[in-house]
Amino acid sequence: MSQSLEVVVVGGGLGGLTAALAMRQQGLRVTVLERAAALGEVGAGIQTAPNAARILMGFGLLPELERIKTEPQDQVRRRWKDGSIIALTALGDYCKETYNAPYWHYHRADLHQVIHEACTDPQGHGPVVEVITNAEVTDIDQSDVRRPVVTTADGRRVEGDVVVGADGIRSAVRDAIGGEDTLVFSGEMAYRVLVPGDKIRADPATRWLVDRFQSTIWYGPDRHLVHYMLRGGDLLNIVAIVPADEGIADSWARAATVEEMLEEYKDWDDRVTSMLSKAGDDCSVWAMYHRRRDPVWVDGQVALLGDACHAMLPYQAQGASQAMEDAAVLAEELGATTRQDIPGALARYVARRSKHAGMVQDASLRNKDFYHLPDGPEQEERDLKLASFDGESDVSYEWLWSGSPLNNADMESFHYQFRR
Ligand SMILES: Cc1cc2nc3c(=O)[nH]c(=O)nc-3n(C[C@H](O)[C@H](O)[C@H](O)COP(=O)(O)OP(=O)(O)OC[C@H]3O[C@@H](n4cnc5c(N)ncnc54)[C@H](O)[C@@H]3O)c2cc1C
Repeated sequence: MSQSLEVVVVGGGLGGLTAALAMRQQGLRVTVLERAAALGEVGAGIQTAPNAARILMGFGLLPELERIKTEPQDQVRRRWKDGSIIALTALGDYCKETYNAPYWHYHRADLHQVIHEACTDPQGHGPVVEVITNAEVTDIDQSDVRRPVVTTADGRRVEGDVVVGADGIRSAVRDAIGGEDTLVFSGEMAYRVLVPGDKIRADPATRWLVDRFQSTIWYGPDRHLVHYMLRGGDLLNIVAIVPADEGIADSWARAATVEEMLEEYKDWDDRVTSMLSKAGDDCSVWAMYHRRRDPVWVDGQVALLGDACHAMLPYQAQGASQAMEDAAVLAEELGATTRQDIPGALARYVARRSKHAGMVQDASLRNKDFYHLPDGPEQEERDLKLASFDGESDVSYEWLWSGSPLNNADMESFHYQFRR
């Protein structure tokens, strides 16, 4: 019997590790090459809607996710000036009952660690994933198209039947296979902040944030702000999006101060400035880039996944979630294929994923203007639309959160998991 396929995954972020785990469970032999000296994630929160939760639960991770999750009860939309509620969408049990999967928040490092451990657990299903750090991929040699070889900055060569470029928005794999230059700077930047929960609890002006966990979006002219609690209330995660300042497009990210954030939101409701003022030194600001929709994700036996092929603005909180959907579909295709039909499996992967991810990419981009309208008739119309809310832009939650991208998803088993 021939040996199972060998896959080299470039990039050990949430997309790459989810792909490694999904392929391991399909019996594939996977090596992950990560540029950084240690695997990890940025110090920030992440939201996973039912579509991503369903993928992760499908790997059998529910007990680990329950341990690290924080569950918001509602999604709340507020107006910048006075905090009045524009719209309220039920999450919590409603999501589990309606979509058979939860809407949960995590610290990124916790989620990353759970997936990493599942990749390398000797008791896990399928061959243990080999993770190699300090391995920056610089090129791909496809002289034998059936055995692509990645080369690293320090001269190592690692070959496989398939190479997966999960190396993020500035993907070297994408460049190596001659991907089109689809990178776009949005003209905005995002402050990312974690505030200690005890500071939030101690102040009556912010105590409401821990009384009921919610996912909150504040809408204002030219800017918005998203926040939610992590680690059961130990941390408040804030993402504050504002027009970009000079230089951020070139530097991509820099350290930031509480004072500059307060200046950006100085006319906003006191609740916003109260929470921002509690941030410590650990504030950063990131240029907001995305990629134009582009359905070319494969060259020979090299395929792209996640931000490498469909980096999107975070205005639907779906970038990592779509990468997880890619991961599960790619593994399903490669797990069912023969060595001879790898090109067919990769073509089917792209056919099953690129239109869907592209629609989410476009809808996230449309939210850029939709979120940031100046006060006036258009904003009032938007708020009315949000009040009778079933999604943002023209992508409904029903479409985004329901069902599964997998051919073999056992939807009933998800139902069962929550009622055990
Ligand atoms: C402010 C903000 C908030 C967001 N919130 C959410 C959210 O709530 N929910 C959600 O689903 N998404 C969210 N996203 C999007 C999400 O963060 C990304 O879509 C997701 O992290 C992409 O995962 P990835 O694995 O494709 O890429 P990355 O996370 O960028 O990982 C790429 C990995 O590859 C490594 N690498 C890069 N180059 C090389 C190389 N040459 N060789 C080897 N390794 C390499 C990197 O070190 C990194 O580990 C948000 C994004 C932002 C900016």
